[in-house]
Amino acid sequence: MEEAKLLYAIINSAIDGIITIDERGIIESINPAALSLFGYQEKEITGSNVSVLMPEPYKSAHNGYLHHHQTTGERKIIGIGREVLGLRKDGSTFPFRLAVGEVKYENRRIYTGFVHDLSKEKAAEYNLKKYTEELEQRILERTQVLQTLVNELEKAKEDVSISLEKEKELNQLKTRFVSMASHEFRTPLSSVQLSASLIDKYAQKPDFENIHKHTGKIKTSVGHLTGILNDFLSLEKLEAGKTEAEFQQFDIVKFSEDLIEEMQLLAKQNQNIVYQHTGVSSKVNLDPALLKNSVINLVSNAIKYSGENTFIEFNTELTETELCIMVKDNGIGIPQEEQKYLFEPFFRANNTGNIPGTGLGLNIVKRYAELMGGEVIYKSAQNRGTTITLMFKQ
Ligand code: ATP
Ligand code: MG
Repeated sequence: MEEAKLLYAIINSAIDGIITIDERGIIESINPAALSLFGYQEKEITGSNVSVLMPEPYKSAHNGYLHHHQTTGERKIIGIGREVLGLRKDGSTFPFRLAVGEVKYENRRIYTGFVHDLSKEKAAEYNLKKYTEELEQRILERTQVLQTLVNELEKAKEDVSISLEKEKELNQLKTRFVSMASHEFRTPLSSVQLSASLIDKYAQKPDFENIHKHTGKIKTSVGHLTGILNDFLSLEKLEAGKTEAEFQQFDIVKFSEDLIEEMQLLAKQNQNIVYQHTGVSSKVNLDPALLKNSVINLVSNAIKYSGENTFIEFNTELTETELCIMVKDNGIGIPQEEQKYLFEPFFRANNTGNIPGTGLGLNIVKRYAELMGGEVIYKSAQNRGTTITLMFKQ
């Protein structure tokens, strides 16, 4: 009797819930720990089927389990234990570990369920999982921020190296300009010097005809020097990305006729520029200033690099889709092996001898044409003339 009392006291003070049911699943006894877990009073629950303490789908399945065990002896939970969900009186659920024992007592089978509440563990587990997820999310975000920073840094590095490269090219250009200028400036400057001292001499006579001749020479030389400086400034502006095409509609025939008239004055003895236009319309959409600069260079090259008593053909052809401007001469041509350098700044072919030039013209022409969405095509053979064509989509 004393033992029974002791047992009762142990069960009553146990931390885990203990529930006993009969073969039909009816609750016979339930200890205070189980009552407080499920939120029932003892009177309310003893005599009820234990399935009221289970949420669906366990509730419906439970009677089946019991029957299955009793007929087959197969154990799904008895002696094994598993994590299940409990249903409180207030309808809420909670996780617990259920261990079921089977007792044969006075020819009866009694099942004892030990209920170990897992709410705290599960909550802790859940919190840990949530925390881990948050941490992962934060790591992901930080990594992304870091990646963006790295990308920005790389971009900045690229920008710096591009501008450094540009700076280097510009410096190279300036160095080459200085060496070219010291060579190219010498002839016009000594011509200016000579003319000036001759003017002094002719002024004593006075011989106005010769004075006039030499002021003319000075003007030409100064014009030539200004031309070189202008080309260099155009190139520097192009290099710095400061040149932009300003498109406008104009008449290519009128444009060409005016330009040829101007250029004919610079031509050599009996060197004739012949102009021809093909096309129904003559309206084009380009930057007239950039185009003028380009065509002047092409025609002045044709004049410079071909001899007296020759024709220079200047053709414009306008179709629905394209404008071609072609300048053709029968001059010295460009040696085949040097043609690949044609558009490089300061390039001058080795057959130019003492024909003056800076080698900047065609480089500028190409860049201007490209700014207007066009391209430059060349065809040349040494001593057999040169044809340069500008092509623009219209
Ligand atoms: P400038 O800067 O005064 O124009 P340049 O005429 O020497 O000097 P580019 O117009 O750029 O420079 O031409 C580069 C080089 O290409 C010339 O020096 C010459 O060797 C060759 N070239 C260009 N056009 C012709 C041409 N029509 N016939 C023969 N060679 C040419
Ligand atoms: Mg030129």
